[in-house]
Amino acid sequence: MFDNLSDRLGGILDKLTKRGALSESDVSEALREVRRALIEADVALPIVRSFTDKVKHRAVGAEVVKSIKPGQMVVKIVHDQLVEMLGEESHPIDLNAPAPVCIMMVGLQGAGKTTATGKIARRLTQRDKRKVLMASLDTRRPAAQEQLKVLGEQNEIDTLPIIEGQQPVDIAKRALNAAKLGGYDVVMLDTAGRGHIDEPLMVEMEQIKAASNPHEVLLVADALTGQDAVNLAKSFDERCSITGIMLTRMDGDGRGGAALSMRAVTGKPIKLIGTGEKSDALEDFHPKRIADRILGMGDIVSLVEKAAEAIDAEKAAEMARKMQKGHFDLNDLSEQLKQMEKMGGMSGMMGMLPGVGKMKKQLAAANLDENMFKRQMAIISSMTAQERAKPDLLKASRKKRIAAGSGVQVAEVNKLLKMHRQMADMMKAMGKGKGKGMLGKMMG
Ligand code: GDP
Repeated sequence: MFDNLSDRLGGILDKLTKRGALSESDVSEALREVRRALIEADVALPIVRSFTDKVKHRAVGAEVVKSIKPGQMVVKIVHDQLVEMLGEESHPIDLNAPAPVCIMMVGLQGAGKTTATGKIARRLTQRDKRKVLMASLDTRRPAAQEQLKVLGEQNEIDTLPIIEGQQPVDIAKRALNAAKLGGYDVVMLDTAGRGHIDEPLMVEMEQIKAASNPHEVLLVADALTGQDAVNLAKSFDERCSITGIMLTRMDGDGRGGAALSMRAVTGKPIKLIGTGEKSDALEDFHPKRIADRILGMGDIVSLVEKAAEAIDAEKAAEMARKMQKGHFDLNDLSEQLKQMEKMGGMSGMMGMLPGVGKMKKQLAAANLDENMFKRQMAIISSMTAQERAKPDLLKASRKKRIAAGSGVQVAEVNKLLKMHRQMADMMKAMGKGKGKGMLGKMMG
């Protein structure tokens, strides 16, 4: 079924073969197919709409690197935007609180709450060496409490003894008390669900939350939850402000679009995914993998990444050659800034170096932030080609025009020119030095 999508997209992509910057029509056409991909992947409609708007904004005018097609470039941009919206990195369960740390599991009936409770408890016990107590607060579904008890026995995790007829809030209080007295690190509350969201369920969740003051409130949701994902996440988040989401049944053929919907609506991270019925079928959530899955075009993404890498290497080598000849104009500076921004800006680059925490703070204080790169690039792009190649042309009136064009003060234009002069001088000096200068070595 998804092969069709790739074929369709392939057709569109093949038609777009123009080089240079992406035009609005290139983007719109490719985005129509991407929109279908997202809908087929179960991303909720309002989210699809706002998502594709964001992508369009980012894509129109973007430079298409040599050797790849504009449509492929759009796919890459879509992918990056997906990863960004899914939260970039993985978020583990937070146990940073006084013991016993309470984790409350919420969600609809059949979402996989009880299974998830067992999986998480097992991981915390076996991998993280925590002492965990599980308690079922599901007094509605017959045998729900029994189900958790069996799970506990299978995995050697303690469960709160069942007292017939006790109400959820009281069970919660008893669980916390037992956890305190028994010296448990973590207490997990498996709450009752309903077939759909209703007021009594929400009231019950609020009461349990008030009584147990959980450190984590995890919404357990079926990855196949399509258009309902938005309502589900919104309701639970509004009523018991969740701290994270676990998506179950990721082993099925759902494409994980619910992840994007839920994350977008709540802003809360997807923390874990369930990938099977067994107790060890638990994985951390990796935004990049889910983005690949939602889009179903991982091969195009890596193709574009490789092409971009090759171009970067080519550009870096060319830059090194120019520098050694002592030539470094504002075009080169702009290229440098672009490369730096691509690497995550100053803070991203600094982050890659060990032990620069302090320096990072100083840089922040000096206002050397990402926006600075952007502003500097804006200043350079407000210049004419001639000015960029010959910065000496830049006298007061030109500077004024450039400042106005890029929305900055003239002082900032001057600062940029000064920085460029210093860099150019430094490079000239190095180029004249013995053989391959320090910079040459640095640039490979
Ligand atoms: P609850 O009502 O939310 O507590 O749901 P359960 O934990 O009882 O799970 C309902 C069904 O879904 C059970 O048959 C589970 O074995 C199954 N299930 C739970 N998580 C997963 C998962 O990640 N993958 C698959 N394939 N099945 C799951």
